[in-house]
Amino acid sequence: KVRVRFAPSPTGGLHLGGVRTALFNYLFARKNNGTFVLRVEDTDQNRFVEGAEEYIVDCLNWCGITPDESPSNPGNYGPYRQSERKPSYRKFAEQLISDGYAYYAFDTPDELDAKRKEIPNFQYGQTTRMQMRNSLTLTISEVEDLLAAKTPHVIRIKVPENEIVHFTDLIRGDVSFETSLVDDKVLLKADGMPTYHLAVVVDDKAMEITHAFRGEEWLPSAPTHILLWKYLGWEADMPQWAHLPLILKPDGHGKLSKRDGDRLGFPVYAMNWTDPTGSTTNGFKEMGFLPEAFVNMLALLGWNDGTDQELFSLKEMEEKFSIDRISKAGAKFDFEKAKWYNHEWIKQSSAESLHVPVKNELQKAEINVSDDAFLNTIIDLIKDRCTLLPDFVAQSGYFFASPKAYDVAAVKPKWTEEKAAFFNAYAENLSLTDAVSAEEAFKTLAAEKGFKPGELMLPFRIMLVGGKFGPGVFDIALLLGVEETKARIAKAIA
Ligand code: GLU
Repeated sequence: KVRVRFAPSPTGGLHLGGVRTALFNYLFARKNNGTFVLRVEDTDQNRFVEGAEEYIVDCLNWCGITPDESPSNPGNYGPYRQSERKPSYRKFAEQLISDGYAYYAFDTPDELDAKRKEIPNFQYGQTTRMQMRNSLTLTISEVEDLLAAKTPHVIRIKVPENEIVHFTDLIRGDVSFETSLVDDKVLLKADGMPTYHLAVVVDDKAMEITHAFRGEEWLPSAPTHILLWKYLGWEADMPQWAHLPLILKPDGHGKLSKRDGDRLGFPVYAMNWTDPTGSTTNGFKEMGFLPEAFVNMLALLGWNDGTDQELFSLKEMEEKFSIDRISKAGAKFDFEKAKWYNHEWIKQSSAESLHVPVKNELQKAEINVSDDAFLNTIIDLIKDRCTLLPDFVAQSGYFFASPKAYDVAAVKPKWTEEKAAFFNAYAENLSLTDAVSAEEAFKTLAAEKGFKPGELMLPFRIMLVGGKFGPGVFDIALLLGVEETKARIAKAIA
């Protein structure tokens, strides 16, 4: 039975890399009739951000990838917050010590600093551990005394010398590490909390996780985790690893980072705290992305179905997802391409499904819509011109209020008294039954008065909408109705 977990730390916003990891976990679970677990890795109390857990849950819900088990909706594998499992970690760390796979270390922060100054690129590990103050260098009774006196200490893994740690990554194939390059990571901190390394292994075991998807930045930690699975005697239960490709900047140079500070670093959702990474508070949601477009775009950062198809619904991806089609190479994130996905999704969405998000955008701009059917007609008329949801405001505001300003420069130089007379005459007998006959009537009158219709079409548009944009001018007039169209002509000419 497939069980996967998304295991974020509640330390800030959820950015592209994190939410893509969540999505791939979700898709793999759905494809294999498995369970998608949310586990909150909150053992680092210094980096803990109040509200971040709810925020992560909201983001996942917005994306439509709600976990099957989570802190607020627990299954039988709890607790779902690492900090709540605190009492059980020490036992495993001590078991590792008695089996000879870990040791107590009593070095003070000052002692560690001094060592770092003395040895360039200091790593606490096989070449240095015997110079430090730990249970490998102290006598048994010294260690007992220090423990009895509650001397602050950590527990470190004792990485073996000259071994090769191997594993088969579902995406990268055979991966191996020389243990000489792996340091003795802290497993249990002085405050009794486990580090991520111990917790991730204990939790994956306790929660019966079968496949662990995570970003490639965790690959260097894999040997430590694999040694721990072995040393705890759980090798047979180890999940299969899948390290997802990095997300790169559009030019392919460098990793896309939360610290970018520009829109590449945007989170999924606005945060209501100051993000420690310093990124802006607006997220993809607030910029006006549809969740359908957002998850579609995310999935294609590193996955495809083997064809040229780019537009997929979540359902379709749930059916087609396969690890074989995840690439090893870094995936380039391009904001323009993200907007393309959104535009395509807006175009193919029905007015009914766009209704609520568009209405919300209009409300933000203080436009209150009372006639829902009218709004749906407008949505259908303008959606092909909208890329992000706020574009609906710019593209439809004139349906709800007459233009506040006119693009005078576009008309003024060629404006004449004769043209004004034409529009007065036109308004007088205005009848609007359908766009085709309205256009014919306009053209006939223009010809009678000696104009080429082309000379009058642009002024008419500007009278109605204020600028050189929008769908067909007679479609607009029809929706505005006779009285409003007349009023706008009169107001513009005056
Ligand atoms: N807590 C880690 C993170 O914040 C999870 C890494 C993993 O999935 O093993 O990304």
